[in-house]
Amino acid sequence: MITLKTSYTKEIVCPHCGYEHPDSRGHQIQGCAKIECDDCHKEFLAEIVTEVSYSSRKVDE
Ligand SMILES: [Zn+2]
Repeated sequence: MITLKTSYTKEIVCPHCGYEHPDSRGHQIQGCAKIECDDCHKEFLAEIVTEVSYSSRKVDE
């Protein structure tokens, strides 16, 4: 059995066939969305994971 990496990937990876969608950002996912794989045409759920980071600087500079 093949274990696919489908979590925290840079692109949306199909959990059925492992196809990596090169146009992940074109899917306009907000939270969770049902997507049809471009390769095997099966439906699956994709969730967008965004990392929050902070930067700070002095006011006077
Ligand atoms: Zn697929």
